[in-house]
Amino acid sequence: MFQYSYKIFSHGEAIVGLCNILITQLQKLAALSSPDILQRYCAVLVDALTFGPVHRRDRRIITDTCRFISSLGKQCSINDLASNDCCVDSEVRARALQLLLVACGSGLSHQFVGKLMDALVLKDRAESSHKTRYYGDSQLHRLKHRVMQSLLVLEPLLDVETAERLVQWLQDSLLMESQQPSVRYQQEWLLTRLLYHHPHLRDRLWDMFQQGRQKRPGSMCSFIAVLYQLACVLIDEEEVFVGRSMREILPCCMAQHFSVRLYAQTTLQKLIALCKAQRLDRVSTEYYIVELSLQASVKHGNAVKNVHKLQEDFYFSAFHPVEHYTLETIFYDLPRLAGVTDEEWISPDLLRSCGVSEMSHIDLVNSNCALKQFAAAAWMPKSSVGAEDDAASTIRLHKNVQKKLVPWHAMIPEQDLASELRQKRQEGLIVVASLIDCLPNLGGLCRTCEGFGVSEYVVGSLKSTEDKQFRSLSVSAEQWIPISEVKPHLLSRYLEVKRKDGYTLVGAEQTANSTRLNDFKFPQKALLLLGNEREGIPPDILPFLDVCVEIPQQGIVRSLNVHVTGALFVWEYMRQQALT
Ligand code: SAH
Repeated sequence: MFQYSYKIFSHGEAIVGLCNILITQLQKLAALSSPDILQRYCAVLVDALTFGPVHRRDRRIITDTCRFISSLGKQCSINDLASNDCCVDSEVRARALQLLLVACGSGLSHQFVGKLMDALVLKDRAESSHKTRYYGDSQLHRLKHRVMQSLLVLEPLLDVETAERLVQWLQDSLLMESQQPSVRYQQEWLLTRLLYHHPHLRDRLWDMFQQGRQKRPGSMCSFIAVLYQLACVLIDEEEVFVGRSMREILPCCMAQHFSVRLYAQTTLQKLIALCKAQRLDRVSTEYYIVELSLQASVKHGNAVKNVHKLQEDFYFSAFHPVEHYTLETIFYDLPRLAGVTDEEWISPDLLRSCGVSEMSHIDLVNSNCALKQFAAAAWMPKSSVGAEDDAASTIRLHKNVQKKLVPWHAMIPEQDLASELRQKRQEGLIVVASLIDCLPNLGGLCRTCEGFGVSEYVVGSLKSTEDKQFRSLSVSAEQWIPISEVKPHLLSRYLEVKRKDGYTLVGAEQTANSTRLNDFKFPQKALLLLGNEREGIPPDILPFLDVCVEIPQQGIVRSLNVHVTGALFVWEYMRQQALT
């Protein structure tokens, strides 16, 4: 099995469904024999728990389409007829999780749990040894995210010695590496739970604070977050610990590092409120002056907005490290709230369909549904490397991020409107680029026309759409817009046919009788002809046009780039149509 499983996992990244066969067979094997047979398949389990490549764009479009169709449920009859492979990779991980839970439920030996944990940590280390930073949703991010999910599932089964090793690894990782938000949330959560279950390790936190101050001030946010979460869980049993936590956090309110200050002020305010609610009067009295100072300091300028955003964030307002310890949080809610791509979200339904039962050491779904009310955090604390970071560099406010639109999410509304849009698209704007020679102009204009929903794009030769100069600018738009070919010498005849079809023939050209674009009213059925980069629209073609329209210019250069011209005309047409 081993010599083949490695090959299967590496080929499985390109061959969809291959690994699903392997993991499903392993599930059958475990079901037929005693689950502790899995102790021989530790490496296979680790590969399956962390399986899944970042697919190429064309594959992702197919997966997105499948996921969208799947989300339509009964609305789409195909969902009743066939399952689609939108979740193939996450199914491998879900089935591996089922095997892990069965093995855990059968009383895994501490040695095996420790061996599994070491294998997961080793996989993370091996992949990130040469990278201290990595991009969101990259292969490395997904691997680290999956390793942390598996470690969170194992956490309650760790013995003292293994727990201590894991605490050390988490401390080093939080100290030395700049993690993506989702990984940081997971590491902080795991550290909180380990310190909660192993009280003798809690004093390690004071050492982490010390090291954070010396080695990487940005890491203090994580240790403050862990301290806060732990103090919230211990609030009614360990007044001494809560008091010590507040003493440790207080100096951070004056730290040089913006996000450390913000975390400290926010968590201290919340802890003081918690102490008052729990009638910890000694602590409340001791911190009364601090409470007044914080209230005064967070009432001005950006502090109001920043502290409010952090306090209202799911992590500090609703998340509970013990109550939310479920598979739903680990595999669905936390990835969703941490801004991880939805390719990584594994819903409870998908877990159930892969054999995960409610009867494991960890609940499947949340009984505390507070997290459902939250969207992805407005704050994504970005770990910084420098000692002195200003506000702009350490906290990335999600005020405005580039959206990756899935076009059909906007294009497939209710059934009747869809057919009307298709009809309208058919009778909309035709852009004729037969006279354009330059392939990048043709490719870029194709992308612009596709992006604005132009009904047809006409080129002088369809072969041009296969050229790499065209495709480097069209970014696959030629796959999504109807394209036809009209050779330049056949243009006049084509224009006559289109006029008979009811199209108004508009030439983009600077002529003696041109109408200004800002004065021109487009009819719904319009054909736009663009001229050649050097010669413009030939004189023998002009008489076939109904009107010439020009874009008024102010500068010295007498004409615009033809792709830019086309884009401005297309935008003006769409703007007028949207208004009508
Ligand atoms: N006639 C131009 C050369 C052609 S520019 C010159 O003498 O410099 C290429 C094409 O871009 C033109 O045929 C026309 O279709 C379009 N174009 C460029 N500038 C334009 C403008 N200000 N108004 C309308 N069309 C323009």
